[in-house]
Amino acid sequence: MNDRHLSFEFFPPKTPEGREKLRFVHSQLARFNPEFFSVTYGAGGSTRDHTRDIVLEINRAGSNATPHLSFGGDSKQSVLSLLETYREAGIRRIVALRGDLPSGMGGSTQLVYANELVQFIREHFGDTFELLVAAYPEIHPEAESYKKDIYWLGQKFLAGASRGITQYFYNIDAYFYFRDQCLAAGIQSPIIPGIMPITNYQNLIRFSDNCGADVPRWIRQQLKSYGTDAASIRAFGLDVVSRLCEKLLAEGAPGLHFYTMNQADTCTTLCRNLGFPITDA
Ligand code: FAD
Repeated sequence: MNDRHLSFEFFPPKTPEGREKLRFVHSQLARFNPEFFSVTYGAGGSTRDHTRDIVLEINRAGSNATPHLSFGGDSKQSVLSLLETYREAGIRRIVALRGDLPSGMGGSTQLVYANELVQFIREHFGDTFELLVAAYPEIHPEAESYKKDIYWLGQKFLAGASRGITQYFYNIDAYFYFRDQCLAAGIQSPIIPGIMPITNYQNLIRFSDNCGADVPRWIRQQLKSYGTDAASIRAFGLDVVSRLCEKLLAEGAPGLHFYTMNQADTCTTLCRNLGFPITDA
């Protein structure tokens, strides 16, 4: 049971209160002894310093911190210097992404595809870092076709990535079909399902519309019917996501990566439900 991969994702808070809260969330989730905590990065450098500071703090607190990284419009030199900071701090894993530019930054800045970033890191840092990349069971919204998206995922692995983490999904068949199509295309690297807990109807729909994740009609309808009844939304969300995770693990997914949204409670309950061992101080 302990060989199932477990990791948690944070975003970098911008306020001292947010950082203080994240320290608590980290301390709660660290009890599950996850393989790593990853920290998102705003392409275009919008969160560069916040991401770096949180990554270094988590690392100092004794957990494996894993920064997300993308070029955005940054110079090669600034990406190299950030990677050097991470290397010196003992960070040994990066989530390499093309990223999305924050609204308002489009046009002036060239995005660099993730396979090119993977290649760039390998060229400059050899095997210093394990590189993880994003994968899309429901297919990336800008993809030319299903096949082409899998082709580009394969290019990320050929360039030197070793594992994938998926965009979140609630349709389990999408994941296993995707895994089979990846295998058929020669991709044998583990593809870890990304799991988004359900805690808020409006936020979920907004995020999902932005990133192209499908929220099935039966989930939307149930959530809508609860209105502002937060307790019912939470109970329904826990039920749906626990079942999803149980089935994923039972049917051979390599583990789980949780999009925590910097909240401890729901992920703690989910991980307990799923039998991930906890060490209480
Ligand atoms: P790529 O793999 O580069 O793919 C982008 C698109 O281009 C796809 O449609 C693909 O089919 C196509 N493509 C890929 N390579 C090529 C190529 N060489 N030539 C032509 N077409 C190509 N966003 C953030 O801004 N910050 C984060 O921290 C962040 N973390 C994420 C973590 C995970 C696990 C996931 C799943 C997503 C994350 N995202 C994040 C969102 C992600 O940045 C966006 O989905 C982005 O639009 C694509 O990034 P990518 O690395 O998948 O891009």
